[in-house]
Amino acid sequence: MTDSMQQMALDTLGAYFGYTSFRPGQDRMVDAILAGRDALGVMPTGAGKSICYQVPALMLPGITFVVSPLLSLMEDQTRALLAAGARPSYLNSSLTPAQQNTVLKRAREGRYQLMYVAPERLLEPRFLAFAQEAAAEGGIGVPLVAIDEAHCVSQWGQDFRPAYLQIREFIDSLPQRPIVAAFTATATERVRADIQQILGLQNPATVVTGFDRKNLYFGCEEMGDKAKTAWVRDYVIAHSSESGIVYCSTRKTVDALAGELAEALGPSGIRVGRYHAGMGNDARRQSQRAFIDDDIQVMVATNAFGMGIDKPNVRYVIHNNVPESIEAYYQEAGRAGRDGDPASCHLLWNGNDFRMRRFLIDRGDAADEALDDEQRAWALQNRYRLLSQMEGYCNTTGCLREYMLRYFGDEAAAEHAAVGGAAADEAEGCGNCSNCLTQFEVEDVTGMARAAVRYVATRPMRFGKSLIADVLHGGNTERIRQMHLDEDRGYGELSSESVGRIKDIIGQLCGRGYLATSQGQYPVVGLGPRAGEVEDEAFAFTVKRRASKRKASARARRAVDLLREEAELDQRPRVGDDAELFERLRALRKEIAAELEMAPYMVFSDKALRGLCRLRPQTRDELIQVNGIGEKKADAFGEQFMAAIEEFESEHARDGA
Ligand code: ADP
Ligand code: ZN
Repeated sequence: MTDSMQQMALDTLGAYFGYTSFRPGQDRMVDAILAGRDALGVMPTGAGKSICYQVPALMLPGITFVVSPLLSLMEDQTRALLAAGARPSYLNSSLTPAQQNTVLKRAREGRYQLMYVAPERLLEPRFLAFAQEAAAEGGIGVPLVAIDEAHCVSQWGQDFRPAYLQIREFIDSLPQRPIVAAFTATATERVRADIQQILGLQNPATVVTGFDRKNLYFGCEEMGDKAKTAWVRDYVIAHSSESGIVYCSTRKTVDALAGELAEALGPSGIRVGRYHAGMGNDARRQSQRAFIDDDIQVMVATNAFGMGIDKPNVRYVIHNNVPESIEAYYQEAGRAGRDGDPASCHLLWNGNDFRMRRFLIDRGDAADEALDDEQRAWALQNRYRLLSQMEGYCNTTGCLREYMLRYFGDEAAAEHAAVGGAAADEAEGCGNCSNCLTQFEVEDVTGMARAAVRYVATRPMRFGKSLIADVLHGGNTERIRQMHLDEDRGYGELSSESVGRIKDIIGQLCGRGYLATSQGQYPVVGLGPRAGEVEDEAFAFTVKRRASKRKASARARRAVDLLREEAELDQRPRVGDDAELFERLRALRKEIAAELEMAPYMVFSDKALRGLCRLRPQTRDELIQVNGIGEKKADAFGEQFMAAIEEFESEHARDGA
């Protein structure tokens, strides 16, 4: 890798994407690929994986194949690359046979730098013949095969796609082996090893970037089902000019919540969309497009929504229900704030969510049909394990960011979050999650803990948390009378405590290994490995209790705040208010996008608009100083935006005079 190559990569990044530097990890991936090495990039959602293969693809002669399972991503990225002045294409089942012919014909002529292709297509005779011809001596050349969502090759992951197993065969059948680069946001060792082995990566440069997404605020709140709906409604109203996603665990919940929100928010002019696999293809497409084009502000959806949607300015992601795992949560929540600006992720949960999840696990998965009994049992156990880690997230009083980063094995970042990323702030820990912004009181509940463990010791693996709590509280329910539990030792021992509180303590005892729960939809409580310790004299059990909030909730800084902050950084005098200009440029962006049938963010990102407000360029040279504006876009849209700025300034100059 020579300096001049590096410079060329930077130039390419600037010319097409308008960025001045690579993000951490991107540079190493690009370097490796340009040096002819296979590469494996493990980066969280929003880290900027696509740049890693797009920049080399735009530099290297020939056509790069990008294997992706996501039709919508292929289309979006092709549109975005076209807008940036590149020559991309895609080939998938959404094209008619005639269109596919045209694409292949043009590809043969060497008209494309890049082709997105679905994995199912790779071994199809016509495509394979084209690829082999291209990679052969004297052909147009295939310098690189990039594999997106590479974890789909692993049966240990959550999104196994059998067609991914064909990728290896495809690569091996090419007359000259291209460089192979694989990308995933899934970090576990097992999946990583599978990717390398099954795809046949040869001594790959492996780049694992930190998993911390510093611009994301994480909030986690326990509340009843009704309270959730009201919370979501109020939140959306308070953020009406922003884009957001609300995830629910079932289609039914999506329909119900979307209906309620539409009714409540309609009068404020907020448009609510919905998306789940039960809707027809067209309806889903329309819904997704409306969201990307900023015609819908809030999308209520199951996890079927969002894979492959690169909408950079999603400002919040609310989970109305508990997802199946920390991986799933981090990926879904991570769709907020891809542009790097502050954004918020909220998880609203209650016991019903976990019951529902256990029900779904017990019911099994259609994909499990292919497994034998042993594998199925393993898969079931694995899902319970993943869910219990999610339960830990909901119940922890420690830093939420730290919890997740540790889960992903990013110890360095977890450590950093724990000791305080928020230097200037009086808040503890990362300073940007609900637990770090909440003050807890430590309370000694050793007596309660002992009573609970002792009672369970007399009746291990018999009852669920609720019944145990009822007995300890001394409840007078029919069930208790029928089963004569009011004669048990321990009955009413904690009569001064509420049932809810006792249940809470039992939950924490389970979490810390003094008690343990069985699996299944109706788990029963038994003794945990540490149960014996409670009889030690020195045994002490404390819990943290929410005392007061230091801050209501850290509201992510919004466009206007950011404009103000950026304005303070450079003291240049300016005419008129940046926020007002921002709104005007935003409207212009929407107009241009509608005319060209592009998504607004493909014209300019929010960040680029802010740059325009701050720098107020008057020439093309000044224009491309703005981060996010490359040469092609400067030529395509620059005039219109500079004219709008000039008009704005002359209006305000008149006002001022
Ligand atoms: P991923 O696929 O890893 O989720 P994307 O490739 O969609 O992430 O990139 C996320 C966002 O970050 C996009 O909006 C992209 O334009 C932006 N981005 C990527 N690389 C850079 C960079 N070097 N500088 C500034 N922004 C970048
Ligand atoms: Zn924190």
